[in-house]
Amino acid sequence: MPVNELVYSLIVYVFIFLFGITIGSFLNVCIYRLPTGESLIKRNSHCMTCGAEIKRYDLIPVFSWLILRGKCRSCGAPISPRYCVVESLNGILYVLVFMYYDFMYYPLRAILVCLLFSALIVVFFMDWDTQLISNYVVLFIALLGILDTLRCQLELETTPNNDVTIVSRIIGIFAVSLILLIIELASKGRAMGRGDVYLMAAAGLFLGVKAVVAAFAIGLVTGSVAGIIIKKVTGGSKFAFGPWLSLGIAAAAIWGNQLADIYLRITGFIR
Ligand SMILES: [Zn+2]
Repeated sequence: MPVNELVYSLIVYVFIFLFGITIGSFLNVCIYRLPTGESLIKRNSHCMTCGAEIKRYDLIPVFSWLILRGKCRSCGAPISPRYCVVESLNGILYVLVFMYYDFMYYPLRAILVCLLFSALIVVFFMDWDTQLISNYVVLFIALLGILDTLRCQLELETTPNNDVTIVSRIIGIFAVSLILLIIELASKGRAMGRGDVYLMAAAGLFLGVKAVVAAFAIGLVTGSVAGIIIKKVTGGSKFAFGPWLSLGIAAAAIWGNQLADIYLRITGFIR
């Protein structure tokens, strides 16, 4: 790669990262305010301990937290590293997604997957904290599914591994969510919440049938392992499945179709 091209790519990725952490700071607002029904666009943020309004120059994502060494400027109370983690995670994921889907070739898919990952970050942390999955976030994922359908159907872009047919998407909406609905009804909501059902329906629209089944399988495996570990460590019975489903959906958005094909080949369903 020629040097000026390398510098150009580097500048683009730095901007994508900065954009990612800015969106990440909005995700923090969603994670903390969606469960309480507070407005998402109300400007002023307050310190959770002393209530002091956080100055605008202290609201720079990631950097402010690092400069203040994770402490409130007025009272010195520790500010959860979670804010910084969510912001940097979103920034890093945006960069990785844009590297994976070369921004020169598949910009639309890259943008949609970035937005999907952001929504999944909100699902992950909010469900972890509250055992709730916001319907707004699920609707947002469904909207991304519709946009990805348009991307494929109008042939705006053709990706090697992620394009699926409308039929696959429609079956995908029900493939996992129906099973979860049955489990939810049978367990009276103890093993599974209605939020998980809606989440997998929206994910099915985005992913198509093969990848949404892969997402569920990944969610099931990681969730079971995490569940055992969490129970050992905390001894608590509170366990949310949503975080692990979102992990599965994220992985399946990139590799779901390939993973499903590998599985089908091993089991002899396809050659
Ligand atoms: Zn304070």
